[in-house]
Order: sequence, then structure tokens, then C-alpha cells
Amino acid sequence: MSRFKIGLTGGIGSGKTTVANLFAAKGIELVDADIIARDVVAPGTPGLAAILARYGNAILQSDGTLDRRLLREHIFNDGSERQWLNNLLHPMIRQQMLQQANLATSAYVILVVPLLFENGLDTLVDRTVLVDIPSALQITRTSQRDLVDASQVQSIINSQMHREDKLNRADYVIDNQGDLAQLECQVMQLHKQFLEQAKLSPDND
Ligand code: ATP
Repeated sequence: MSRFKIGLTGGIGSGKTTVANLFAAKGIELVDADIIARDVVAPGTPGLAAILARYGNAILQSDGTLDRRLLREHIFNDGSERQWLNNLLHPMIRQQMLQQANLATSAYVILVVPLLFENGLDTLVDRTVLVDIPSALQITRTSQRDLVDASQVQSIINSQMHREDKLNRADYVIDNQGDLAQLECQVMQLHKQFLEQAKLSPDND
């Protein structure tokens, strides 16, 4: 059983969540990569067991869940540890995303993946959609939302794929520089196209 799949991506603060919620309001089911990335290291999972075997119990918080901040510190300056962790978790995340997507019952399903292109998850989906805004607006909106300073947002932007590269790769681009009404209008147009494409897709059974 397979569903027609859309991969939704965009840099920090570009509006992925806002866009995803607009599609959800039209009855389209969402699969969220951030949630799955947490699920695969939840207590009792093989993911967490492998991390414990490598780093010991010190990597746990007092409630028995993974101390994600400490884990990030372990891998931050160590490419080989980061590679080890990615090799462990990425196949699990891919498999879970596909499994959840194929359980969806809406006409098509949206996979919300911040690092869709960076992590090669675009190969899982039928179409890709980029939510795009200039970096100055990423900084304004993110720092207003999270009360963080501009330099922190800028360093995250720097760690993500360049805007031009993502624009070149995406099948569709949502320009989110305007207001919410303009955003909703673009979502509506794409929704209509995806409904048509899903109907024609041999994938949707
Ligand atoms: P992240 O990558 O950090 O999770 P995101 O891509 O999911 O972010 P959102 O959280 O949807 O981005 O949007 C970032 C902020 O910008 C939010 O506070 C949101 O309400 C606001 N926002 C999104 N679109 C618009 C818009 N068209 N006009 C004004 N504000 C907007």
C-alpha cells in the first residue's frame, strides 16, 4: 500500500509548520520528521539502546529519556561520531516516515522534513515543495518567535543548504514573503494540483 507523497521543506523560520497546518486544514495528513526523529530514540527503542551502548547511561536525563543536548555536544565537533549517529538513526527515520506515510488515508500525504535535501529524504517522495523566504526575513520571524538573537539564527542558516541550491532542486516553491492570505492562496493552488496528480498516480492504491 503506497500513498502519493509530498516532501515539504524550507530553512529555519521559513514557514513550514504554518504551511503544513494549512494543508492539514484541508484534510491532508502530515508526517513530521522532527517527531519521528524523537520517536526512534524514545525509551525502549533499539535506537536508544545503541546510543546507550556507545555513550553509557550518562547520556540519559534523570527521567530515563535521552539528553539530546548532551548528545548534540558529543557529536558537535566530532565528524566520526556524527557519522556514526547518522548511520544509526537515518535508516530508522526513513523507514518510519515511509511506514507512517503509507498508512495515511488522505488523497495524498505530506512529509514535513526540515533537512529534506540535506539528508537525501527527497528520494522518498513524489514531489518536493520548498517554502522560501530571504534570510533577513528568516532571522526576523525566527527571532520574534523564539526570542533568540540574530546571530544564533544566522549560524543555523549557515549550517543548512544554501537557498539557491534548494530553489534549484524543489519541484514547487511557495513564496512566503507576503501575508497569510497570500500564503493560503498558494497552498490552495498546490492542493488542487496535488489532488489531480494523486488521482493519476499509480502509487495511490
Ligand atoms: P522552523 O524551521 O524553525 O521549525 P518553520 O519553517 O516551521 O520554522 P514557522 O514556525 O511556520 O516556520 O514560521 C516561523 C514564524 O513566522 C512563526 O512565528 C509564524 O507564525 C511566522 N509566519 C509564517 N508565515 C508568515 C507570514 N506569511 N506572515 C507573517 N508571519 C509568518
